[in-house]
Amino acid sequence: MQEVPLSSDTAPAASALPPLPWLGAPLRDALATQRTHAVLLHGPQGVGQFEMALALAQAWLCERSASADGDAPRPCGVCASCRLAQAHSHPDLMVLIPESLSSVLGWNADAQAEEGTSGTVDAAGKRKPSKEIRVSEVRKIIAFAHTTAAREHGKVVVVYPAEAMNTIAANALLKILEEPTGLLRFVLVGSSLDTLLPTIRSRCQALWLGVPDAEVACAWLRAQGVAQPEVLLAAAGGQPQEALNWFRDGIGAESWLALPTQLAHGDAASLPTWPIARVVDMMFKLCHDAMRMAVGAAPRYFPAEAMRVVADRAADITALGDWYRQLGRIARHSEHPWQAALTIESLVLQAKTALAAKSSSARALRSIN
Ligand SMILES: [Zn+2]
Repeated sequence: MQEVPLSSDTAPAASALPPLPWLGAPLRDALATQRTHAVLLHGPQGVGQFEMALALAQAWLCERSASADGDAPRPCGVCASCRLAQAHSHPDLMVLIPESLSSVLGWNADAQAEEGTSGTVDAAGKRKPSKEIRVSEVRKIIAFAHTTAAREHGKVVVVYPAEAMNTIAANALLKILEEPTGLLRFVLVGSSLDTLLPTIRSRCQALWLGVPDAEVACAWLRAQGVAQPEVLLAAAGGQPQEALNWFRDGIGAESWLALPTQLAHGDAASLPTWPIARVVDMMFKLCHDAMRMAVGAAPRYFPAEAMRVVADRAADITALGDWYRQLGRIARHSEHPWQAALTIESLVLQAKTALAAKSSSARALRSIN
């Protein structure tokens, strides 16, 4: 039997994410080793965490009889339960996500728009969707738990991302986890586990989902039309969904490869028009790579050829450290309504200054020559 593609082939056209071929093995492992009613799926973002959580939920709810099919893959993708899950309308599957992600992920958008009460209102009077999972959302689990399952395979709650719960919501969830009701199972998904209550962590079986094999990820990106996928994959720290998002935002390998030279020359004009947070993230990566090279290590996010301009300058590690701290200060205020053009100009100037500062050994060598 053909393995069912996992993911978002099941999602609506709005998110239109292609199936993620690297989730098959981790899903099989998860199903084989799962031993509690709650799984805490964790690891880097951009590798299909949400899709993995849904695949796990779908597998638990799948109605295809394993005895009839031997070792048929799960979820089967064709039974009534799988189809309901794929259509986002399974009565025994509850997905808790912040309102800010509902339209991105194609879940709960209608319900949350109807309620429309969880966001904040900005200075222009425009309502911004909430980035939190609130206690009122978590309390819906209690009602969900007490209804009879519509089908025969219990009920599943997916919480994504678990860090989006504020303290009150997390405590409410803890109470529910402590007193599991009937056949209710949970998949909590998170990247920074340290921000979760230790008591929640200890109630769950932790399951790590790391970055996929680069070859598999590159083949997947290539199938989505990404040219030189290895460049964008490295740029995105090995996270293929992130690389695909960049590509869909118009960031190609060529523009990424040009960045070190542009910044070393202080060329702000030809910098792509990115949001500040993305510019800062890119500069963190460039700074990180320049620091690695200053101590004789290979760059990680940019290919060595693209970093030649930095290598030639033998940048000073202290200046790079200062730059790193400056970027940290900006990153902490990334929600601030920056004057985009001015901020980017000053960021580019910082980059140029840091990359131009020669290390003392390079200066000494130069004076000898
Ligand atoms: Zn099924």
